[in-house]
Amino acid sequence: MSHQAVSRSLQSIFSNALVCRPYPYLKAATIALLNHSLLDISMNTFKIGNDRSLKLNKKNDSISIEKGSKKAAHFTPARWASFLQCLDEIDDQLRKLSDGEDVAYYMHYGGAWHVSLTKWFRCVDLRKFFIPTGQTMWKPTKTSIALRHNEWPTFKQAVDKLHCDNPTVANFTSCFLNLDHTTPQLIATCSECNPYPLTTT
Ligand SMILES: [Zn+2]
Repeated sequence: MSHQAVSRSLQSIFSNALVCRPYPYLKAATIALLNHSLLDISMNTFKIGNDRSLKLNKKNDSISIEKGSKKAAHFTPARWASFLQCLDEIDDQLRKLSDGEDVAYYMHYGGAWHVSLTKWFRCVDLRKFFIPTGQTMWKPTKTSIALRHNEWPTFKQAVDKLHCDNPTVANFTSCFLNLDHTTPQLIATCSECNPYPLTTT
């Protein structure tokens, strides 16, 4: 099978995987309640918990998780699709934590952004990193947002609602499924897969 055929096939698989399945974890009565007010602030803003919210911009091409005006994680369409592929792994890590197991989960999902979970910091931490000039090690920045463990189920419900209300978002795909990601040299030029030359200051 050619690279193009493989890419098209993968794209089809992931598009189908993101077909809207409203609130798969919830019963009908709960869904009715959510449809009315619990999550929905508008078609494009969904409450997660406390002062945190999930937002889609007006052009439907940028998503953010925000805490007031001070904390936020920003997602391009490709970054959002890649982050969603981490959700099952994050669920597994949260299960391990609740079982008292050691967890040190750390995943790059696009741009300079990483998601992490550890037993010491009881949040799902989304954080921007950078590489200082002349160095090779990633360093964390203060640009981040943390979702508490008890906010995680509400966040996933908000994702389902976002996708149901905005089918364009449900069909976002990861950059590595594109035809311009067929060689290591081409991947190295992608700012989502290889952001560090662009974020070095
Ligand atoms: Zn890429």
